[in-house]
Amino acid sequence: MTGAAAGGPGATVSGIGAAAPGGVSASSTAGGPAEAVRGYDGDAYEVIVIGGGPAGLSVGLNLVRARRRVLILDSNRPRHSATLISHGFITRDGVSPLELRALGREEFAGYPTAEFHQGLVTTITPGAAADSATATGGAPLFTVTSRGVRGSADRTVTAPVVVLTHGLAETLPALPSIRAYYGTALHSCLACDLFEKSDQPLALIGESADLAERALLVSQVTDDLIVFTNDAPDAVTAAEEAALAARGIAVERRPIDDLEGDRSGLTGVRLADGTVVPRTGGFVRPTWTVPDAHLAELTGLERDADGHLVVDALGATSVPGLYAAGDLTPPGPQQLIVAAGAGARTAAAVARRLLGPL
Ligand SMILES: Cc1cc2nc3c(=O)[nH]c(=O)nc-3n(C[C@H](O)[C@H](O)[C@H](O)COP(=O)(O)OP(=O)(O)OC[C@H]3O[C@@H](n4cnc5c(N)ncnc54)[C@H](O)[C@@H]3O)c2cc1C
Repeated sequence: MTGAAAGGPGATVSGIGAAAPGGVSASSTAGGPAEAVRGYDGDAYEVIVIGGGPAGLSVGLNLVRARRRVLILDSNRPRHSATLISHGFITRDGVSPLELRALGREEFAGYPTAEFHQGLVTTITPGAAADSATATGGAPLFTVTSRGVRGSADRTVTAPVVVLTHGLAETLPALPSIRAYYGTALHSCLACDLFEKSDQPLALIGESADLAERALLVSQVTDDLIVFTNDAPDAVTAAEEAALAARGIAVERRPIDDLEGDRSGLTGVRLADGTVVPRTGGFVRPTWTVPDAHLAELTGLERDADGHLVVDALGATSVPGLYAAGDLTPPGPQQLIVAAGAGARTAAAVARRLLGPL
């Protein structure tokens, strides 16, 4: 329930429905500056959230509902901008991912202590310990700088708690035409896009050691699947190839030249020797990295072998006062609803931290 003190979803985000290519809306600061609380005003916030995807918006929404003064800084580069439809989020199956973000922003911005600003965070500096009045248990006070995006202002802001929700960057297999088909004929998220590929002749293209496992998942929706390893030595062992063959899944190891298509979409995978293998769609296995140019000053930030930010069950990283949620935490890329759920769980932990010891 939303009471008058919490503000409720009254304010609207200007520009919703006028999404710019690759972005959410033309507005750079939704809802105006956050109201002052408990001595935090101007550029001093209780929590700064870096990234305005489902994880960050969920962190923000749940914390402003605890009446915390929250700034979300977002560079407006959603990873899923390659696609027009997203699946698997209950009550929103089939929604445009940009619309989902715009709705999330509108809900967040409806609270008086919320502030959304478009900006690319460039540095996060842990500083002097916060004073006891902030009840942060001695966590460092972070200073965050951001560069304006689409004409928004550069900012330098502070908070005793920072939550990283800036997602992943992905690199697709190096095929000249792959971008033309990514998000339509070819996808990377199996849980998100399998159903729409049902009963089609599909390709699974990748070079990593998990390819056989992914092929097994794709085989849930088609009996006609070929795994293309592009001559990569680590993709699909002989034992895995035999196991896949027993399930009717073929492995093609020859190098790939490019993809082929016409007005109807993807028509095939062209190998380096000129052979064209007819396929109408499928999945690629990108490589994912956590963007980290702005994390350089966070010494002691623990990562796993794949570079994801290690967090405890509540989203706390190895740096006091620094939390993380969403795709940039292990095991890496998942789904909108998983990122949003992790954000909500992390928000609860942050809210408790800000109260200090009993
Ligand atoms: C093509 C594609 C299709 C997908 N389809 C689906 C689907 O149908 N269903 C589904 O459930 N999932 C889908 N996903 C997965 C889903 O998009 C992710 O799991 C989800 O977006 C992760 O949320 P997140 O909040 O962790 O990160 P993101 O959504 O990636 O958000 C991160 C945000 O942080 C911002 N950012 C990055 N660096 C900075 C910085 N330095 N400063 C400020 N801001 C920064 C980015 O601009 C971005 O807005 C898809 C993914 C892709 C790539």
